[in-house]
Amino acid sequence: ISSDLTQCYDDEETPPPDPKTLCPYCDTPLPAKPTHILKKLLDRTYFQSCSNPRPGNRLGRKAPSAIFGVVCQRHIFESNVLPQAKERGWPTQINWATLKDRVLHMERELAKILADPGDPVVYRGDGKEDNDAKEQQGSKPERSDGPRMRCLFWDDLVKRVKTQGSKGLRNITSQYYNFHKMQPGYYGELGLVIIQRALCGMFPLEDIDPGLVKPLTPMEFIQSIFVPEVGMRLVMADFGLNVNNWSDKEQAVEVLRDSASYGVAMFPYEESTGK
Ligand SMILES: [Zn+2]
Repeated sequence: ISSDLTQCYDDEETPPPDPKTLCPYCDTPLPAKPTHILKKLLDRTYFQSCSNPRPGNRLGRKAPSAIFGVVCQRHIFESNVLPQAKERGWPTQINWATLKDRVLHMERELAKILADPGDPVVYRGDGKEDNDAKEQQGSKPERSDGPRMRCLFWDDLVKRVKTQGSKGLRNITSQYYNFHKMQPGYYGELGLVIIQRALCGMFPLEDIDPGLVKPLTPMEFIQSIFVPEVGMRLVMADFGLNVNNWSDKEQAVEVLRDSASYGVAMFPYEESTGK
């Protein structure tokens, strides 16, 4: 409460803000440390706008809303969302140069997940795979606790298929699910592209035995199992979590999902294609 009061009195006594610290379009304060993305947007729109001094912002500028809208959206994001992200321990800078190698280092662990067919029940999901399922069932019992079933994302798929049948499977491959569950959290779109490229290098789609990824296609397996698996492992390394501990994994997945929207806004792909 006291800080609110201080704020209140401050507002009445403080001099008008330095126009250099204000958004030239909407006159609200810009973040103290704008990211290079915001700076680039400000530079770009500068040349698409014209000077429009006004009381309260002598450096004010005028432009069609289609042009300045992106700037305002961005600085509002950086002012409001960035501090929250920092508070939650989500990075505001990522060492992109090392990301590919970090993913490539996961090859052995990922290959184990791919090679282990896991719980055979999932293959009966659409009722057409009975023959295959019988074949699968004939093999080793440790499949229920092998690398595949210890993959939280595959485990989730198995549970969905078991309880919802092919509807559960459709949900998993749907767009909505894709956005919220397949984004690699705060690694954002740029992270997604780097992860996907590294995965396709390690596991070319044509080399994936379709029988090992059923009921998914090899592409769906990469997108909906491996991309989030890699994202989870990256987050676990960032947060010092233990990859062999189930509840640590769940904690990392929560971070992935909570930070997905932040990641997309913070590290868009297009803005960074020059890198
Ligand atoms: Zn603005």
